[in-house]
Amino acid sequence: MKIKKITIAIIISTMILACNQNKSTMKETTQELTTIFPKGEKGSSDLFTGNAYPTALVDADSIYNTLVGNVYFEPGARSHWHSHPAGQILIITDGIGYHQIEGKPIEIIKKGDVVKCPPNVKHWHGASADVGLQQLYIIPNTEKGIVQWKEAVTEEQYVINNSNHKCPKRFKRTNRCPCLLV
Ligand code: MN
Repeated sequence: MKIKKITIAIIISTMILACNQNKSTMKETTQELTTIFPKGEKGSSDLFTGNAYPTALVDADSIYNTLVGNVYFEPGARSHWHSHPAGQILIITDGIGYHQIEGKPIEIIKKGDVVKCPPNVKHWHGASADVGLQQLYIIPNTEKGIVQWKEAVTEEQYVINNSNHKCPKRFKRTNRCPCLLV
């Protein structure tokens, strides 16, 4: 009976160790993102915290009153608070990041997600603390305006904790939510 208990204990500890190992391996392998578009120049510290690389891909003209661009955020990098007079659509092409509308919890965004930021709503977006983010942005109806920049996102606002973040259900299922990785 005693031997049985010891055997069970050994099996459980092995499983725990194996889980931890998977966790750290996953963390390392998700660090490097696959770049699709030229990375471009580092964005101004007046608009971004950390290393963010915004690149314009499509300029608005008389036929297409729409702006399209790419932003590559290194881990920890994020935009300042801002709003778009005509709204904005984000398409996440790689990595894991955060998006927050003022007064609401931080949302986790990751490769394959599409996010609509409504017109004139104050928000920010950027990479998670440990994994970078690559996102396309689409700004329609540019005749209404493009962006109004506001103050930087503070370290306190950027930190995910239990009071301002809920793991989306899909992350709970697969145990991949960034708040479980840090
Ligand atoms: Mn935005």
